[in-house]
Amino acid sequence: MERTDTHTHTYLSNHGIGTVDEVVQSALSQGMTMVALTEHLPLPPGIDESGTFAMDADMLGVYLEYLEAARQTYPSIEIIYGVEVDWRYAAANFILEHSKPFELLLGSVHMLTSAGGQQWQFDHESGLAGWQERGEQNVWDAYLELWLEALASPVPFDIMAHPDLPKKLGFKPKFDTRELYATMAEAAAAAGVMVEVNTSGLHKPVGELYPAPALLRAFCQAGVPCTIGSDAHCPADVGRDFEKGYAALRKAGYRYLTVPTAGGDRRRIPLN
Ligand SMILES: [Zn+2]
Ligand SMILES: [Zn+2]
Repeated sequence: MERTDTHTHTYLSNHGIGTVDEVVQSALSQGMTMVALTEHLPLPPGIDESGTFAMDADMLGVYLEYLEAARQTYPSIEIIYGVEVDWRYAAANFILEHSKPFELLLGSVHMLTSAGGQQWQFDHESGLAGWQERGEQNVWDAYLELWLEALASPVPFDIMAHPDLPKKLGFKPKFDTRELYATMAEAAAAAGVMVEVNTSGLHKPVGELYPAPALLRAFCQAGVPCTIGSDAHCPADVGRDFEKGYAALRKAGYRYLTVPTAGGDRRRIPLN
């Protein structure tokens, strides 16, 4: 099957390794026809205090130069200029301005705002205590609220990344998820976005793909197109476990994988 990867990172994330070139070379060595570089878009001042969550704002130009050079150097593979955006309403204008040069926007929610106004990264080991304080159901509720807000926002997200990310550290929903999944699927369909099967979850404490099988089924039934991404934070992980991702897509009822193009279109690859 034709292979593509729609979600990758480099050293520019400040928490990954490898260069744009190395990511592209890894994709090429696996015979891929397309790879999207999707570095974390910088956050507005004051939010990423440790400086390890996202790309530094002054590296945006460097990132674009690397992407342009790679497109020149490797004409045999389609390279998409992407960013992964951590959604927050207060940053909508910042996001719109800084994401302008990019061809692909992944939409993510990785943080919730605490009562004191600080950001709580619920998917990071350093934030484990926050789960106790808030309660699991409240975390999922707050996550859903932000996720829906992102879809309704003026930011033109193309793909919603790792749609059920809160489970990453092992916090799979313990409640009946039918309403949650139906709400997410309807909202994604109404917004016209794609979602992704993200294989990195297999290597996290939760040990499963994003999204969970029932959520992927809900997306399929709602007619939401689906991409595949490794969320690689080092070049060797590009394309990791994609056979498992394809199998999950088929099982959920998908006949095609959807692939964005650098020009802003979409195409489909049969899942055979
Ligand atoms: Zn992410
Ligand atoms: Zn990512």
